[in-house]
Amino acid sequence: MSAAVVTRWDGFLAQVRERFVQIMREAEEGCPMLLQQANFDPLPMGNAWSAIEIRAKQLETKIDETWNAQVEGAFEQAGAPPGAIAYERAKGEALRDWFEVERERTRIKIWSDAGRTFYRRALAELGRPFACVHCTAPLEVPFTYRALDVPCPHCRNVNGFEPGTYMRMGEICVHPLSEEAAWPAWLAMRQAENAWRAARPVTIQHLKAWERAQIAYWHAYLSARARLLPDTARAFDADLRGKMRAFYEQMEREGPWIQAGRPRDLV
Ligand SMILES: [Zn+2]
Repeated sequence: MSAAVVTRWDGFLAQVRERFVQIMREAEEGCPMLLQQANFDPLPMGNAWSAIEIRAKQLETKIDETWNAQVEGAFEQAGAPPGAIAYERAKGEALRDWFEVERERTRIKIWSDAGRTFYRRALAELGRPFACVHCTAPLEVPFTYRALDVPCPHCRNVNGFEPGTYMRMGEICVHPLSEEAAWPAWLAMRQAENAWRAARPVTIQHLKAWERAQIAYWHAYLSARARLLPDTARAFDADLRGKMRAFYEQMEREGPWIQAGRPRDLV
């Protein structure tokens, strides 16, 4: 009876999902505490996250392994038609996909929160209001990890902002903070990539949609990075081309791309 197999499979997926949610919750609660306990040394938190990531990936693998080793065969023995088996397999794939997105979202949140913690701590350590040296008007402390020239909005005097050691420590969080800012674009890029993978046959429209989604992602990422590290703004165009290089190399192996005359948006 395939109904019993469906019940067992659903039960297994629900159990794996619960364990995964639990692990991610532990990470979100535990990692910031580790950062505090280690007096803002990010290493223990980094080690803890690596261990959590391994456990999460094991659960992802377990879905595939269980399907291949037990569930698919059980459905076949129960006489389930191919369409029903494909439907059940897709449940596992959807859950695995959700795990991957949630794992990324959690990693980015933990490290971005750490970046904001470094920032707040540095503000507290600054100990004095950041004010214009010329007219003493209060200035907003920029959320940046690098030294910066801040023009006074009242008298136009240019004030040097030195973020200090604590602020500079937060520089390791620039990557996740940039990823966080580009998160909606990352989801769209992933969707475009999945559409390309699933396409039979692949058309130039799939490839163009994937290209646009990648450019949009890197644009959002590099723009966020330039706000945190203003000196990287100069290299924006070169960096964007660098990030897109692998994509364009891959397109050299895609027939529809070649036949359409290599229609690059980024030249
Ligand atoms: Zn001023």
